[in-house]
Amino acid sequence: MRYVILRDDDTNALTPVECLERLYRPFLERGLPVNLATIPNVSTTVTRPDGSPEGYLVAVREPTEPTLPIGANRELVDYLLENAGFHIAQHGFQHDYFEFDRDDVAEVESRLEWGTRLLLMAGFPRPRTFVAPYDKFSRTSLAAAAQRFSVISAGWYELRRLPVFWWPNYLRKKLTGARHWRVGQRVLLSHPGCLLSMHRSRENMFSEVKRAVQSQPLTVLVTHWWEYFPRLEPDPDFIEKLHRTARYLAEDPEIKVISFADLARLNLPLN
Ligand SMILES: [Zn+2]
Repeated sequence: MRYVILRDDDTNALTPVECLERLYRPFLERGLPVNLATIPNVSTTVTRPDGSPEGYLVAVREPTEPTLPIGANRELVDYLLENAGFHIAQHGFQHDYFEFDRDDVAEVESRLEWGTRLLLMAGFPRPRTFVAPYDKFSRTSLAAAAQRFSVISAGWYELRRLPVFWWPNYLRKKLTGARHWRVGQRVLLSHPGCLLSMHRSRENMFSEVKRAVQSQPLTVLVTHWWEYFPRLEPDPDFIEKLHRTARYLAEDPEIKVISFADLARLNLPLN
């Protein structure tokens, strides 16, 4: 059996329900869980180093508060709670640029804890999975996240950004070529880059996804809802690539799509 976890990043208080509905109804109808890495208190002014607004800000239609808690969008929260196939992971706190690439312990802990509190206040269950904005952790923030979450989903791990007492486990992972690893009860997941992305070739997208899924026992597929809606208009060709992936994942009897929560609960082999 091969396991797949679908992770869609950047759901926030500005995300239109129609976007998630359009993308994920085919997954929900087939009983495939969708993990939304959700920003608890989204920054509405964040820019990339080149000065351009962050991609998810496509959803800003009028001037708004500098930050918005997820609970401010009741329609979205209710929609997510009504559809049991959506699972909420915590995606940073405000999604400031490289938000968790910092070493101030108090600042890191406050962002982690306020983020969780805002998700709980909105009515979501306590998040057990953490995704750092830009998949970027400092040693301090990785240790603090691992104290509070069962599952960390990131792109890859670098020795110099790991707590020193994790090094033996990390070296074992490196030596065995394992993609995912554990420290105590914590699961640390890697992913093969954003294969379902506007930056990838449309032509090869589906075959790349298939190859990733076939090449390992557990694959985390990462995507971003807003990439399918440039200027908030749907991109039907790109959306079809995602839906083709849904059909493939549902129809192959050797593949099971699971949530991050399933992974923590079922104690599945990682590699
Ligand atoms: Zn993000």
